[in-house]
Order: sequence, then structure tokens, then C-alpha cells
Amino acid sequence: MTRNCDALVIGGGPAGSSAAAVLAANGHDVVVIEREEFPRYHIGESLLPYCYFPLEKIGMIEKMKASAFVKKYSVQFVNTEGKLSVPFYFFQQMDHEASMTWQVQRADFDRMLLDNARERGAEVRLGIAARELLRNEAGAVTGVSAADRDGQPQEFRAKITIDATGRDAFAVSRNGWKVRDPYLNKIAIWTYYKGAMRDPGIDEGATTVAFVPEKGWFWYIPLENDIVSVGVVAEKNYLYSESRDLASIFHREVGRNRWIEGHLAAGMQTGEYFVTGEFSYRSRYCAEDGLVLAGDAFGFLDPVFSSGVFLALQSGVLAGEAADAAIRAGDVSAERFGEYGARFREGIEAMRKLVYGFYQPNFSFKDFLMEYPHMKGDLTECLIGNVFRDFDPMFQAMSKFVNIPEPVPHGAPLVRTPTLTGAGSPA
Ligand SMILES: Cc1cc2nc3c(=O)[nH]c(=O)nc-3n(C[C@H](O)[C@H](O)[C@H](O)COP(=O)(O)OP(=O)(O)OC[C@H]3O[C@@H](n4cnc5c(N)ncnc54)[C@H](O)[C@@H]3O)c2cc1C
Repeated sequence: MTRNCDALVIGGGPAGSSAAAVLAANGHDVVVIEREEFPRYHIGESLLPYCYFPLEKIGMIEKMKASAFVKKYSVQFVNTEGKLSVPFYFFQQMDHEASMTWQVQRADFDRMLLDNARERGAEVRLGIAARELLRNEAGAVTGVSAADRDGQPQEFRAKITIDATGRDAFAVSRNGWKVRDPYLNKIAIWTYYKGAMRDPGIDEGATTVAFVPEKGWFWYIPLENDIVSVGVVAEKNYLYSESRDLASIFHREVGRNRWIEGHLAAGMQTGEYFVTGEFSYRSRYCAEDGLVLAGDAFGFLDPVFSSGVFLALQSGVLAGEAADAAIRAGDVSAERFGEYGARFREGIEAMRKLVYGFYQPNFSFKDFLMEYPHMKGDLTECLIGNVFRDFDPMFQAMSKFVNIPEPVPHGAPLVRTPTLTGAGSPA
């Protein structure tokens, strides 16, 4: 069976749903294929204030306000001795209702986003996994071959294909485009607690980042139904140094931070222990003819500053807008996505520099701000997700304390030059 459409979106996470919502709202025939049945579990629960703007663009704000998601007003830090910093409240930086954001159970959040895309006119096909990219004689992508849950083959043909397959990175792995960040090679081990301690009042929904020795950290994210998401991120060799058993490693690390230990003591661990590696990579290209990447399928950054869902939503909206313009122009060549790719890279690079700072043993943001108090605004803007702006002065100042990495050169579109046979070859 072949389904022809204007735009095919692979993956129904935040990036895919927001791209689909934008394209469908602009009147295009959009199909989303998603491998899983929804709702499905996913990690990545803490939103940034700037999620508000892509969510607003796709008509999700009222739905978020009506949801049971825990309200998040702040982030706070706990040092290795278990001492809590003063919470950083987003409304201190931002006089806008976006300064309150949410901690979300992703099963519900992602279902809401996908329903929203459907309401705007996208056709959503669950239980369909993309298998291979389809190409025309010139090498341009024209859709995918796929299979349903019984293994029955399906074919989707589209003017433009948007790869939003998350860290599966469908096109990136098939095209050999993955470039890893050599210095951000961590792993995470996490689980859930019921009944663990919450701080009172508006601090109830705060994200807490708690340091463990060796420059690792815990996240502590209060969710609805009295559940807390709690996980540790650190170097693989460090975490696996004494045991391969996830539960033992997790509890050993809990014992190394008094704040985390004290807060979990009141609750009961529930469900599995999860693990993931493959931290921080970028695709060599953001697009080729007929194909554009969004969200984690384009690039993934260590989650210490909770930037993933924001970048997924924002890149979904931007890729959707660029694809809309490309379809209208009758030109879905890679070049059309140059500006989109540049913008995403600008955003992720700003966050990446902060993440590097965070992991450098002798650096502290507190010391940095003691010497450069006027940089507090820039630093905060970056941390709340206002990343599409010029941070050069701040990073120049920070480079006196830490090695700020050069931008990764990857992520421009793959521009092909025509050959005599008509098949494209990389320029
Ligand atoms: C340990 C950890 C903690 C994190 N914590 C946070 C956090 O607190 N806050 C935050 O903002 N971010 C966090 N993130 C990042 C966040 O999870 C991601 O950035 C976000 O989910 C990316 O959204 P996406 O839409 O790009 O991909 P996803 O949400 O992964 O969605 C991709 C979808 O594509 C589908 N798919 C995959 N392959 C195929 C295929 N071949 N065919 C069809 N469908 C397919 C998948 O089933 C999935 O539903 C964390 C990540 C990790 C690993």
C-alpha cells in the first residue's frame, strides 16, 4: 500500500508533533507515522520556560493550563555536601506567564501533542515503523518504506520527509551522519519514587540538580500523582566502577548526596531502573534534498539544563515552517533548510557551552557571577531557553575560567551538485 502526501513526519514525539501541527494548520496533507502505540513511556520530563513559545504557536497553552502537570517555577542546586542553594525563580528574570512552566509525565504530554496535531488535520498512524528511506534517481528522498506491527510492508511517498525519530536517529544512522561529542560522553541511570519528599509551596515543583563527587549529578523532578523522577548522570567508567547492577549503582550514588538521600527516604521506589548512554551527538547534516531532521534526530545534548524538549518543540516548529515554505515554492532541496539548520545550531551551541562549563571540575557559575555580576541576565536567559540570541560577550568572559568549546561545524544542509548522470554527489 502506498500513501502519497505533502509531508511525512516520522516519529510522534514533541519534535514530530509540533512540525506536523504547523504543516497541517497550513493546509498541507500531513501523515505522521509513529512506531509505538500511544500513550508510551519516555524520559525527559522537566520543561524550560521558553517551551511556552513553540507550545503557544501550535495552540497548546490552554491545554497545558488545564492539565494536571506539576507547575515548575524554579530550579535549585544542591552541592556535594547536600547543601541547598537559594531556588532560582524564573519570574525573577521574566515578567511573562511563560515564567511558570511544567514537569510532565511524557506519556500524557506526548499524547496531548500528537492529539493536537491530529486536531489540526494531520493523519496519525501508530504502530508503523519507518524502515528505509526511498529516493528518486537523483538521490533525493521521496518518503520511506515502513512496516506495521504485524510486519506488513507499507510505503509513504511525500514531497518532504521530516525525520523526528528522537535518539533512534533514523536517517542519521542510515546515512552514517552521527558525530559524537567526545567530551560529553555520560550515561544516566534513573527510576521513580512514590511519596518522596517535596518542598513546600511554589518550591514543590522545582527541579533540583544535586551534585555527586566526580562531577556527576542527580535530577530530582516532582511529577503528578506523588511521583518523583530521580536519576544520576556521570561518566560510564565511574558509575560502573564497582558493579553493573543498576539498582546497586543508583543506591550507592544516592548515599553520596545527603539531600537526595533525605528526600527519597520518605518514599518508596517504584518500577524499573532505566539506563541510557549515547549522550550528546550532532548530525553531520540537517537536511538533504527532500528530507529535514528535527529534535533529537538532529542533535542531542546532555540533559543537565533540561533543554531537550524545548529544542525538540522549537526545531519542530521551525522545520515545519521551513517545510511549509519549501512545499509552497515547489522546491524541497536541501538549501531551503540552511537558515533552519543555522538557527538550531545557534541554540544548541549556546546550551552546549554552558554544559561544558558545568562539567569542568574547577568552574562554578557562582564564582563566574561574583566576578561578572552583570552577566547574570545573559546566563539566566540561556538557562530558561532564550538561546537564539548573541551570547558572545558572556562566553568570552567565561573563557577566562574554562575552555569554551569551538562550535561543532556540523549541521548545515547537504548540498549536492548535479552530475552528468543526474545522480547527486556531495558538494
Ligand atoms: C536521561 C535523560 C534525561 C532527560 N531529561 C530531560 C529533561 O528533564 N527535560 C528535557 O527537556 N529533556 C530531557 N531529555 C531530553 C528529551 O528526552 C528529548 O530531547 C526529547 O524527548 C526529544 O524529543 P523528540 O521529539 O526529538 O524525540 P522523542 O521524544 O524521542 O520522539 C521520537 C519518536 O519517534 C519514534 N520513532 C523512533 N524511530 C521510529 C521509526 N523508525 N519509525 C517510526 N517512529 C519512530 C519513537 O517511538 C518516539 O515516539 C532527557 C533525555 C535523557 C536521555
